[in-house]
Amino acid sequence: MRYFSTRGGDERLTFEETVLTGLAPNGGLYIPEHIPALPGDWETSWTKLSFTDLAVEVLSLYISPKEITREDLRALVEKSYSTFRHPDITPIKKLSDKTHVLELFHGPTFAFKDVALQLLGNLFEFFLARRNARKAAGEKPEKLTVVGATSGDTGSAAIYGLRNKANVSIFILHPKGRVSPIQEAQMTTVTDANVHNLAVNGTFDDCQDLVKSLFGDREFNAKHRLGAVNSINWARILAQTVYYFQSYFHLRAQLPAGAELQYVVPTGNFGDVLAGYYAKRMGLPMARLAVATNANDILARFWRSGAYEKVDTSALNGGAATAPAAGASDGKQAVGGVRETLSPAMDILVSSNFERLLWYLAYEDTAGSDQGAKVHAACATLDGWMQSMKSDGRVQVPVSVLELARRDFVAERISDDQTLSTIRDYFTSESAYVADPHTAVGLCAAKILSAQNPAPITQVVLSTAHPAKFSEAVTRALSSSPNFNFEHDVLPPEFKGLLEKERRVITVNAPEASLVKEIIESFAEREAASATGASSV
Ligand SMILES: *Cc1c(COP(=O)(O)O)cnc(C)c1O
Repeated sequence: MRYFSTRGGDERLTFEETVLTGLAPNGGLYIPEHIPALPGDWETSWTKLSFTDLAVEVLSLYISPKEITREDLRALVEKSYSTFRHPDITPIKKLSDKTHVLELFHGPTFAFKDVALQLLGNLFEFFLARRNARKAAGEKPEKLTVVGATSGDTGSAAIYGLRNKANVSIFILHPKGRVSPIQEAQMTTVTDANVHNLAVNGTFDDCQDLVKSLFGDREFNAKHRLGAVNSINWARILAQTVYYFQSYFHLRAQLPAGAELQYVVPTGNFGDVLAGYYAKRMGLPMARLAVATNANDILARFWRSGAYEKVDTSALNGGAATAPAAGASDGKQAVGGVRETLSPAMDILVSSNFERLLWYLAYEDTAGSDQGAKVHAACATLDGWMQSMKSDGRVQVPVSVLELARRDFVAERISDDQTLSTIRDYFTSESAYVADPHTAVGLCAAKILSAQNPAPITQVVLSTAHPAKFSEAVTRALSSSPNFNFEHDVLPPEFKGLLEKERRVITVNAPEASLVKEIIESFAEREAASATGASSV
């Protein structure tokens, strides 16, 4: 299996190159040359497989055994998920006859990004070790310096994914004093030598700009081989397809005759739900995938109008057709900017992985039977759409493309008020379930969609974070419930005492790229010095 850029070109990469490269040089995202079909007997032969066994089966459809042998793949998968606290890795809980949650937060940082980042860290280490083993004595080893900015959520999952990995160092920038105490503690209490937390005197935007300027500095970038771990990395999408299969097998027997399973996915960058799309295209039976957004609703608006646009122009023009009154006042809204909501991990302006879906839509909308020509045409169409996104902040796809998108997806936007009342409803219901605000966006969308659906459906809502990670919203929703006690009902033992643990963090006094570069340089020099000193070990 080879991978190519959504924006075209002749480049065909191996899985290894795809994972180590991340973003294509022409700005596109890598996708597989074809979507593999499931083996003929998958519905019987995969039934009883554990999560890790299933992961080996699904992943090996996308990774040639010449690149990673089955034994190596199994070892990588087992190592990656050995850090999870639950034997099922991603367990399913039943909230009612027709509603289940797929809990993706039993990894080291209590959020769903662990599912992908635990594997990504091990893949990096595996590929670098193999490259270095092939080098002649005295040749410089290949290393990867991962640099990223975080407002809290992603940073800790990336740090836990890469901590203690050979030949990899990670520098995570966060705005000093502007990250929630638990999230700050989660990041800075990781004291492995290859993990560096940089607290920048500035905003999250400053941090992002700093990272961009480091990546833009060719010389620095090449010298340190900068790498990113953001959700456009193909390995992250691939890792996330596994739990769709696992939950299907778990729930299949419980489905009423003729009922379909619908996955409802709270999403921001369209990574998690895109993994579901791949599962669907591979042949996993499911109803239309449900996209659940918060007030940052670029995706929900796309499914209404076929316009993919940063700013809701229909609202600016006073068009009431697409501006829902219910959500109109939520979030601190800067015109044209990201809205701050109670589900901050989904606060985005554009969805970075949506480009991958757009490519498939462009491909399907292309006439003809010559596959090579269709791929070429789809890349050209997609490239045009992305150019107009860049220049105008919007693109309007043809009606035929919108219809294709509606064949596989539905979408719903949920306000902060709806999020809070959903958390309350599920806590006070028979299930007494405490949902985090991201999961609540999914639960609320599920309810709305199920009421609209003419045929009975069974829904699985992807639960993306442990409620203790977003204590503010959960407490706000439940503080008036006499039965609610945060410490007792929500706080996991791992979080107790976290705030008192030893920390390691470097303060960056001003948001200046030169300061960050100096820090990275000095650690690289130190590492090189200690490596020569210990070369005989
Ligand atoms: C990242 C994240 C999401 C959104 O995931 P996407 O893949 O970007 O759609 C949802 N919930 C939580 C808690 C997250 O951390």
